[in-house]
Amino acid sequence: MIYMDNAATTKMSQAAIAAMLPGMEKVWGNPSSLYAVGQQAAEALWSARERIAACLGASPKEIYFTSGGSEADNQAIISAAWEGARRGKKHIISSAVEHHAVLHTLRKLAKAGFVVELLPVSAEGLIAPEQVAAAVRPDTCLVSIMYANNEIGTVMPVAEIGALCREKGVPFHTDAVQAAGHLPIDVAAQNIDFLALSAHKFRGPKGIGVLFARRGQPLASLIEGGAQERGKRAGTENVPAIMSMAAALEEACGHMAEDTTRLLKLRDRLIAGLAQIPYSVLNGDAVKRLPGNVNFCFEGIEGESLLLLLDDKGVCASSGSACTSGSLDPSHVLLAIGRPHELAHGSLRLSLGRDNTEQEVDYVVRSVAEVVAYLRNMSPLWQEKLAGQRAFILSK
Ligand SMILES: *Cc1c(COP(=O)(O)O)cnc(C)c1O
Repeated sequence: MIYMDNAATTKMSQAAIAAMLPGMEKVWGNPSSLYAVGQQAAEALWSARERIAACLGASPKEIYFTSGGSEADNQAIISAAWEGARRGKKHIISSAVEHHAVLHTLRKLAKAGFVVELLPVSAEGLIAPEQVAAAVRPDTCLVSIMYANNEIGTVMPVAEIGALCREKGVPFHTDAVQAAGHLPIDVAAQNIDFLALSAHKFRGPKGIGVLFARRGQPLASLIEGGAQERGKRAGTENVPAIMSMAAALEEACGHMAEDTTRLLKLRDRLIAGLAQIPYSVLNGDAVKRLPGNVNFCFEGIEGESLLLLLDDKGVCASSGSACTSGSLDPSHVLLAIGRPHELAHGSLRLSLGRDNTEQEVDYVVRSVAEVVAYLRNMSPLWQEKLAGQRAFILSK
């Protein structure tokens, strides 16, 4: 099997698995209990908090453990919205290409009377800092722009956006789920007020994540109960997963430079190979791009069929957004960068990880070329295009 869907989830690293075991075998107590096995769990929790904070340039007291990226996004946005409403500010700025964890939270807030402004992106999928600057109003209570896009891999200018939000006194949240462990993060230097990350996107376990909230930013709790996470997130902490997440993040950040160099070579080889397929186009920016992300549209192809045939060839990939698979709607991200519906349906995302090799890249290029040719050959619509009865969207 060739796994090229690391943007959906990653296989856990040996270090992350090893770090989880003592959380189950030795420090299995409740961190809120006063006896030794509880206090050992509390110490493990604190150590994980310190190590994760260090990776982000944050202070340990600004780290809140959540059930993952979605919860962290929800909590950041809802907290800023409630604080805004308290001060009579109900305008929120975000982008058209955010993850559904952000977009659906914003949709709920819009129904509750907030004014949500989704900035359009460029043809490459980028937001310019000037767009954000021009959109900020006196009643803006939050700017939420993702660090890196999960579908097309574009890397947003978060430091510039952070600087201008700070200057204008508007809280800035970034969904850094695709960036954490893969791109440098420094919440102080980048003027980030809220940040979401998720362990399973950097070779840690699923169901655990972090909300960074800058000291002084009011946090609303989504889950009521005990006083865990300083009263901001009730429920007994998932100590083994948190210990594992800390190890995974340290490992990913410690190897970031060498991993990036390796991935960039593989990524650009994959892009060059797929670009040879006639009537294809790369989605996203060629340079401001996650080191492991490749996303193409192939004209005349249905993404689902492409995935099924690739699966037969042992290749795991994704089409559109993983969260919308099962629905026939084309990806909102591809529509936002201006791809017509027909093209947006024929997209393929390949996301590389630590274990991928050059041989795998070459095999995938050959396989995609074969499958695309096979599907086009079977398609009456494609035959009409070849016969000149229907126009091509892309050029050969
Ligand atoms: C995966 C992902 C999420 C959701 O994270 P979970 O931990 O799966 O809830 C949010 N945002 C982005 C950009 C993602 O890629």
